[in-house]
Amino acid sequence: MKLLNGFGCFLCGSLGVLLWAAPANPDRHVKAALALLDAIAALAHSDAALAGPELRTALADPDTRATLADPVLKAPLAEPEVNISPLKTSDTCVLSEECIDQYLWSVYERAPKLDTIKVAEQIKETIEKNGKSHTVTKTVTKFVNEDFTWKDPDAAEKAGISVAQYVIGGMDRGFKVRLYHLFRALDDAGLCPGITSGFRDDYRQSIASGNKAATDRSYHGGSLRGGYGHGLAADVVSVKGETRSERLISNQILWKWIDAHGKEFGIGRPYLDKDPPHIAPIDGTEYADKRGLNAKLAGKESAATGRDAKLAKSPQAMLQRRAEHKPL
Ligand SMILES: [Zn+2]
Repeated sequence: MKLLNGFGCFLCGSLGVLLWAAPANPDRHVKAALALLDAIAALAHSDAALAGPELRTALADPDTRATLADPVLKAPLAEPEVNISPLKTSDTCVLSEECIDQYLWSVYERAPKLDTIKVAEQIKETIEKNGKSHTVTKTVTKFVNEDFTWKDPDAAEKAGISVAQYVIGGMDRGFKVRLYHLFRALDDAGLCPGITSGFRDDYRQSIASGNKAATDRSYHGGSLRGGYGHGLAADVVSVKGETRSERLISNQILWKWIDAHGKEFGIGRPYLDKDPPHIAPIDGTEYADKRGLNAKLAGKESAATGRDAKLAKSPQAMLQRRAEHKPL
């Protein structure tokens, strides 16, 4: 079941193993038949179950409030099912844009906001040359872990909205619907997608690490691309695996899955292995420029993929496949 697969994605860690006791329910047909009958009731429960207080607050502005059913807002915050079926909402999301936002927020929340970044460090070294000692300065490259958990909250605070309203609400509506269907399919495939970055404004872009596009040019939502409400990119990883190295492998499988099936959902990876987690609409400008018609006209595609194919084999390149990816 989709519910159980989705649930399974939350159980990749050891805690999940302890909690998981229920048998899988293989009867998709029965569930499908019941889905419509249960939809309204399920929505009322699951909206409350999935969203944290933050999202409910975030989405309670006059525009979105009108789309919310009262029972959703009045639902208890902690029903028994809250802790055991966090993705139940996804089964009923065809009924509600609000529900889609909450599902995407849950996918964002479960992704660790960690990164491996490359840092250049200058060191002094003494060498012997012609019988004399010389001190030289060398630049060495180190890979260090970075926790960027604080960045989206910081940017959201500056924007005066909640994190949920910022990272999910800032994305283009049509793109979010595509993401929803893609992530549901990834959940069904057991690949446990997690969003590490959704919308980014110019400020958020300015505090992103690593090589990056100019602050106003990010397709995540830079001002040159339309800003808030027009984000047309997200960074996606797999949360499957207990260790980072296990998740690195899961990431590779997830990204290849998107390469193989993403088009069915209107989504692709514009940069392939140059920026693996970054996904965008395949009919958008970014994709067209990098892998679509525009790229083919410019002859960029073959060059880019050839270089990336070499990079992909190096262990360092594996490390460089950052969770917080180059926000191009
Ligand atoms: Zn990105």
